[in-house]
Amino acid sequence: MMGFGLAIGVVFPLFITLLGVPKEYTLTRTFFIACISAGLIAGFVNYFIARKVVGKRLQNLSNVGLQMRTLAETMRDAGSEQANQDFDFEKTFTGDLSGKLGCHINIDSDDEFGESAKAFNFLAETLSRTITAERAARSFTTMLATDLDLAPLAEKAIQKLILYTNSSSGLLAVIDQGKLKIAANDGLLEPEEILQSFQVAHVIRTNKKQIITTPDTTEAVTIDHRAGKTPAEYVLVYPIVYKNISLGVIVLASENEYDQEILGRLDLLSMGLGLALNNSLTHGHMRELATLDPLTEIYNRGFGVQRLHEEYIRSVRNHSPLGLIIFDIDDFKAINDTYGHLSGDKVLINIVNSAKKVLREGDILVRYGGEEFLAVLPGASLADVGIVGDRIRRAISDLAIKAGEDIMKVTISLGGVSHPELNASNEETLVHQADVSLYRAKNSGKDKIELHVC
Ligand code: GH3
Ligand code: MG
Ligand code: MG
Repeated sequence: MMGFGLAIGVVFPLFITLLGVPKEYTLTRTFFIACISAGLIAGFVNYFIARKVVGKRLQNLSNVGLQMRTLAETMRDAGSEQANQDFDFEKTFTGDLSGKLGCHINIDSDDEFGESAKAFNFLAETLSRTITAERAARSFTTMLATDLDLAPLAEKAIQKLILYTNSSSGLLAVIDQGKLKIAANDGLLEPEEILQSFQVAHVIRTNKKQIITTPDTTEAVTIDHRAGKTPAEYVLVYPIVYKNISLGVIVLASENEYDQEILGRLDLLSMGLGLALNNSLTHGHMRELATLDPLTEIYNRGFGVQRLHEEYIRSVRNHSPLGLIIFDIDDFKAINDTYGHLSGDKVLINIVNSAKKVLREGDILVRYGGEEFLAVLPGASLADVGIVGDRIRRAISDLAIKAGEDIMKVTISLGGVSHPELNASNEETLVHQADVSLYRAKNSGKDKIELHVC
């Protein structure tokens, strides 16, 4: 600009000479110096004004390159393990995200510079939101992957979903053996009624989310939530789907409307949830297969023996008694021979159900062999074993099980022991001595209990 002013100062006397101004005025040293000085002053003033007016904005915009690089680096690192470790879960999705990536240009005018800065900020903010949402979804999925048990998994998931969607309360329900069951509920009253609603049924059927505004819709489920038990204004019913198969629903309640951004977050988060729930349900079924007897649905021998071992260790550590009963159906072969194998199976199921009713919570019933069962009774002395065993015996001899037109009657024989009255050095000794007692009962007339007395 100074150079331009200087050039104007030099050219100006010649120019006005060409226009007809007398030479004696224009081509003098004094006039040249005056023109050059004026050109320099004008150049300097221009430079000063330009610096003042647009310099700051130009500098602002020149930072765009740097900002872009920061943005690109953040995006590149977003997937790294370190970034996920550093990721602040609790603050995700809360508050203003603009400038979160250090990419924000100050807007101080409405002109083209201002518009460019606005466009950049909008781009940076959109990218910031996308990265944050992607990171949150990744961390959410990683967090869920650490739990295979349904209850803790569902508990964690619903808490995070409530937080990320700015909801007041919510529940997570899964379809287990064809029935929709609540896996976790945080703050919703009468959750069972919510599951009965036609909106939930509709979401399960169609796999499409539904937003219910209460109480505008008369059929809407009335949902109260924790904060003073006031009715929620908005209820969101969201499907949990894995490979197009409906696994359950998320129900969220809030005083605030669910906007597109929240729904978008939920779309992202629900993908990870679908995968984690599917893993958990598959794991649950596999564990059931590994631990339960398929006919009677009580523990199988392998898992039952493991549980007995744990109870024995606990009993020794806590100096508390541990009772054990082994029982066997009397003349069961004759039942099979007379009524058929299927009727024999029916007898087994009925016997298990009767025994379960007599046992307390914490007692363990195991199918030990074909028609042989173990009942592990933590805390039971030998006298208790005698009482519980005789109750089981009577409950079973009272059964009248239908086989077509006929009624089947069965009895059992039992052998019982208790630690430390029988000072057994391991649980196998307990089982062995209970078995010895059982055979005493078998050999002395059946339909009775024999206790191991030291
Ligand atoms: P005892 O009074 O001496 O115990 O005579 P028992 O006839 O009960 O004993 P035994 O060991 O001779 O026969 C047991 C029968 O239990 C033979 C077997 O076919 C039957 N059994 C074992 N498992 C099952 C099962 O899962 N279903 C059916 N229906 N029968 C079974
Ligand atoms: Mg037997
Ligand atoms: Mg038998």
